[in-house]
Amino acid sequence: MSITNALPVAISGGPDLPQRRHLTTVIPGPLSQELLARKAEAVPSGVGHTVPIAAVAAGGGVVIDADGNSFIDLGSGIAVTTVGNAHPAVVAAVQEQVARFTHTCFMISPYESYVAVAEALNRLTPGQHPKKTALFNSGAEAVENAVKIARKHTGKQAVVAFDNAYHGRTNLTMALTAKSMPYKSGFGPFAGEIYRAPTSYPYRDGLGGPDAAKRAISLIEKQVGAENLAAIIIEPIQGEGGFIVPADGFLPALVAWCRENDVVFIADEVQTGFARSGSMFASSGFGIVPDLVTTAKGLAAGLPLAAVTGRAEIMDASHSGGLGGTYGGNPIACAAALAAIDVYENDGLIERAVDVEKILFSRLEELRSRDARIGDVRGRGAMVAIELVHSGTSEPDSALAAAIARACIAAGVIVLTCGTYGNVIRFLPPLSIGDELLHEGLDVVAEAMATI
Ligand SMILES: *Cc1c(COP(=O)(O)O)cnc(C)c1O
Repeated sequence: MSITNALPVAISGGPDLPQRRHLTTVIPGPLSQELLARKAEAVPSGVGHTVPIAAVAAGGGVVIDADGNSFIDLGSGIAVTTVGNAHPAVVAAVQEQVARFTHTCFMISPYESYVAVAEALNRLTPGQHPKKTALFNSGAEAVENAVKIARKHTGKQAVVAFDNAYHGRTNLTMALTAKSMPYKSGFGPFAGEIYRAPTSYPYRDGLGGPDAAKRAISLIEKQVGAENLAAIIIEPIQGEGGFIVPADGFLPALVAWCRENDVVFIADEVQTGFARSGSMFASSGFGIVPDLVTTAKGLAAGLPLAAVTGRAEIMDASHSGGLGGTYGGNPIACAAALAAIDVYENDGLIERAVDVEKILFSRLEELRSRDARIGDVRGRGAMVAIELVHSGTSEPDSALAAAIARACIAAGVIVLTCGTYGNVIRFLPPLSIGDELLHEGLDVVAEAMATI
């Protein structure tokens, strides 16, 4: 019998779920434990999980498990359900499309929703130049394709990624990703012609943006050479690497150097895109216009969809048939994306992200003023993090971050960790969360900090 069949009542998600933190068992409860035991038997241990529950419904600002526990969601499934889980407009769009047709393969028989998603992304991404968009299934696949397109356009091969970068788990994107454990260790050999440059990490390098850019560009010129370089790829705010916000001027200097040197500037906005950072795309917040933008996480509110959007002349570099994939731009995912994009644009989600930023910063800065283990509070919009260190030093304290996250989860609040050193706790609430619930979640974080 399935877990949902074992539940006393049929449960559906969305914003009508009671918006409260409520624990009926210790975590994990018995039904969750049952599922986790089945998982351990059926799913390889390489596929981990951080919140030990069997999720059965979610919406607004909560996730419900099979045992009836209601968690405050400060993770949005890693910045995916930004409009809210099971948002009614997304549910309706998906239901309508799934009953019409589920798949034709866009490369066989095109359909309107794919084209409409492309038009929307061409309009919404930074810059007024002519743009085109190709759709894929995952963030990693979008990054792979952005690199293919940049290489074809420039006729060059080298790609520069940065310290603390995260771009995915496929072979090429593992090579682009910085952190060995857990993303790369033992999985080589990795794709060739990938080089790594130092990023801007104001808390740790103390450099202003222009100096950090000079350092990176000098290394690129000496160790790679612009004449060999197809693209540089960077997350405008580094996500898995620790919500690192570069110093002012760093990104514009890199973009200017790329323009002068026939190098494609790829902004990986897979995590920062779609209102998350307090603007539709984080690039706009830094005043830059990338040549190519990769998107995924927030794009289709949980359905698998990703995109590469960019300058038409670069996007058109590939011969016909060179880009695509069986499922890329699946019609159900496109229907979800069109509904989600409508919510981003018309339900004030950018303003909501700015409000959430104010709450997160005021609460977390207040915590930091009382606790020397919080070395830094940083981020933009509804992506804000605290970096934990040993008191009075800048030595990363990953054990503390893990203990805080565990304590929060045990108390009914889903928080995620990140960071090259694993010492960062990140807050990525859905923008559908209410102020009260957000404050309650942060109360729990403060309590955990106080008791550990
Ligand atoms: C999550 C992420 C990816 C990979 O996306 P998947 O959909 O997991 O393949 C790539 N880049 C960034 C910045 C991400 O945050």
